[in-house]
Amino acid sequence: MTGASGSSEVPGPRTDGVAEALSRVGEAVDLVLGRGPGTLDAVDERERWTAGLAAPLPLRGIGADATLDELATLVVPYGTRLADPGFWGWITTGPTTLPLAAAAAASAVGGQRYTVTAFNLLEEQALDWLRDLCGLPEAMKGVWSSGGSVANLVALGAARQHAYEQRGIDPAADGTAALVPAVYASAEVHHTVQRAAGVLGLGRRAVRLVPVDERGRLDVAELRRMLAADAADGITPVAVVATAGTTSAGAIDPLRAAGEAAREHGAWFHVDGAYGLPGILDDRVADRYDGLELADSAIVDPHKWLNAPVGVAATFVRDRSLLHRAFTQEPADYLESIAGEAHDDVAVSIEAMGVPYQDMALELSSPPRGVVVWSILRELGREGVRARVRADNDLAARLAAAVRADERLELLLEPELSIVLLRYVGDPASPRDAAALDRLNLDLLQRLHRETPWLPSDTRVRGAVALRPCFINPRTTPEMVDAFAAAVRHLGDELASVAGS
Ligand SMILES: *Cc1c(COP(=O)(O)O)cnc(C)c1O
Repeated sequence: MTGASGSSEVPGPRTDGVAEALSRVGEAVDLVLGRGPGTLDAVDERERWTAGLAAPLPLRGIGADATLDELATLVVPYGTRLADPGFWGWITTGPTTLPLAAAAAASAVGGQRYTVTAFNLLEEQALDWLRDLCGLPEAMKGVWSSGGSVANLVALGAARQHAYEQRGIDPAADGTAALVPAVYASAEVHHTVQRAAGVLGLGRRAVRLVPVDERGRLDVAELRRMLAADAADGITPVAVVATAGTTSAGAIDPLRAAGEAAREHGAWFHVDGAYGLPGILDDRVADRYDGLELADSAIVDPHKWLNAPVGVAATFVRDRSLLHRAFTQEPADYLESIAGEAHDDVAVSIEAMGVPYQDMALELSSPPRGVVVWSILRELGREGVRARVRADNDLAARLAAAVRADERLELLLEPELSIVLLRYVGDPASPRDAAALDRLNLDLLQRLHRETPWLPSDTRVRGAVALRPCFINPRTTPEMVDAFAAAVRHLGDELASVAGS
């Protein structure tokens, strides 16, 4: 970087032009990220970076060069391991190169997503591409948000608007107290649904948890029973939520049966596909998504299976005017004075606001996220994404086969997508009780994290502790999966022999 940054010098006010500032970004990014991530776990040198970073607000800045140096030496090497090929915890991974570059471009010159720009065009186009990729009806239109949490909230905001408007009430304007609402979802639903119900004034307790079958999928007979009982009590069915790829197990709820039950009771049908919706691209499991077209709304998180940097999800609905009524800020002089009017003769980009995304979800200022998803789909195409999804499902099937083949390991649930639930059980001739198996597998998980490159998370299946690797990282190889199975067996044997002695 140019320019002195001696310790006694106070940097003056920034006078760089936009072009000059941007021309220095490549050099700055190269300095900060050019060496790649660290090879250590951040905790290994925690004292070093804590001592270097934890400090009071500086009175005088240290200047650009010295700050870049701190970013490069004290921050980046001690970042997350999410992008490691052996990181299989939860449903999260690091970005690939293209969406990372696109996110940087969005930060630099994307700015707001409205006004007539290339970013604004891609905002809508990438939503449509993502909808088509995931097999959603062409009639659906979307909005971006920061992740599945907000995407579910936006979808349920549409459901609330729909249910109350049908009964002559505008809940966005007048509140929700006039009805007793209920939302139905399986016991395996992501808990952002309860939070969304709370934020939307329906109340977390309005979410009725429907039992699941032995494969972890919503039991539709139970759903129907609950809908009928509530209808008899005068309770308003706002939405039925089905999950296409549950967070814990990757199970796909029976979409057609759940959607039909919702329709019969006049409830909105929402499909949470934050993780699993791209799974429809794998023709070996595509039929499990039968009934998806019944969805009134659906969400998907490109920052899960599509490897976008964290911070992007889409909500799709059939009628965006419903979103507009649910989330409008009401007209504002400071926004709509000129640009809000429809113009045919736009001569300068500020003359048109374009699609009013700012009134169809929760954010006014927002990064243009479409360009990030566009970059992924432009790079890979439908077939490229399909190949990744299939490869991840193959990794899960491979691990499941290795577990089945080893009598000391147990497969707790057949994988539907790319999540595997397994545990070490030890010698079948001397079975352990449930509490001992839970303890052993929690100890095993800790040893995996501390002694191997394999970083799954854990969950419970019918109460039992399960090791839970989730494969969504295109850098993971079959050999790594084999090594993981061997490590579980080896560490399990060691722990079992200590526990047994
Ligand atoms: C991850 C996930 C969410 C929440 O998404 P975030 O992007 O983490 O906010 C919601 N639903 C399901 C099914 C998920 O897997």
